[in-house]
Amino acid sequence: MTISRVPLLDPVRGNAALDQQLMAACARVLHSGRYILGPEVETFEAACAAYLRVKHAIGVSSGTDALLMALMALDLEPGDEVICPSFTFFATAGSVWRSGAKPVFVDSLPDTFNLDPRDVERKLGPRTRAIIPVHLFGQAADLGPILELARSRGIAVIEDAAQAIGAEYHGQRVGGLGDSGCFSFFPSKNLGGFGDAGLLTSQDDALAQKLRMLRTHGGLKTYEHKVVGGNFRIDALQAALLAVKLPHLDQDTAARQAHAQHYRTRLVAAGVASGDGGAPVVLPALKESRHVFNQFVIRVPKRRDALRDHLGEKNIGCAVYYPLPLHQQPCFQAVAGGALPVAEQLAREVLAVPIAAELTRDEIDFVCDAIISFCKRADRR
Ligand SMILES: *Cc1c(COP(=O)(O)O)cnc(C)c1O
Repeated sequence: MTISRVPLLDPVRGNAALDQQLMAACARVLHSGRYILGPEVETFEAACAAYLRVKHAIGVSSGTDALLMALMALDLEPGDEVICPSFTFFATAGSVWRSGAKPVFVDSLPDTFNLDPRDVERKLGPRTRAIIPVHLFGQAADLGPILELARSRGIAVIEDAAQAIGAEYHGQRVGGLGDSGCFSFFPSKNLGGFGDAGLLTSQDDALAQKLRMLRTHGGLKTYEHKVVGGNFRIDALQAALLAVKLPHLDQDTAARQAHAQHYRTRLVAAGVASGDGGAPVVLPALKESRHVFNQFVIRVPKRRDALRDHLGEKNIGCAVYYPLPLHQQPCFQAVAGGALPVAEQLAREVLAVPIAAELTRDEIDFVCDAIISFCKRADRR
């Protein structure tokens, strides 16, 4: 089969193998009459808790809402500060802002794209109430020093694990190391749902209880509100469909890891990539044994936009995550802080290329060929 295009992801193809089970789950929910929370959600939550090796897993309406709820549970006051990376998806800091606290942006590391623990330490202050490490693109952030800093000062750690379900830090699954963990089932995430949905995790009984209250307007009994929560519930349909997909997640993760290894092998063999910047393409550093590769993000220090256009012409899906760091967003100008040179550099240099589990080795080769031909052509110029 000759390849003429490679999408960044293809959810229809990705879900095809499970079509019958998914249809059966749909029908079951349709005929159950229980469309919000209920037994389907409880079954899915138990499966997630076991998979993530955490005590509590709480299904919620989205990854963004998981972050907002984790912050609401801290009862933040105006003037309180929450440290988070600037180089991340908008929701990380958007949730901080919505919680009433001030986002304090920290810089990232150029090799893993994750937040820099030394900059976290520099930006700690008397009003710091929480730190949000983001496990960006599927690799765990360097949690050790962050947990140490936080614990010694009584600061909460909220893991933004939206892109990293199943990723591990020194052998422990993310989401279970901080006070709470936030996951997303947005269709482009590794466990992609069929609409919006998310999950909160915690090892702490009291916090989990509070999060369950926040999920339904701050009360566990109807019409009794201990705190002000919201409607952060997950639909039974999402839970039932995701429960079909969860047992296949490890197989999908293995496919993503194999794709990543293939990119590495091919681009290094062709002499166009290195890990340190000598070549046109800089490969992402592998620091943890279980990187789940929600994205495969390369750095192209000299001609990123030209490579993006070249791949586009060949009908290869690619994307810039993220073109503008959060401290430079118009809505955050009042809290921007100073320059963050690595975040700004990454915004100029990163390019995500296809890595979805449903793609074939031949499709990854097609992308490799296009990257290699671009680099060789640019070399001759
Ligand atoms: C996707 C994502 C979110 C938000 O999840 P939604 O389910 O889309 O609300 C938060 N943080 C990061 C890092 C993400 O990638």
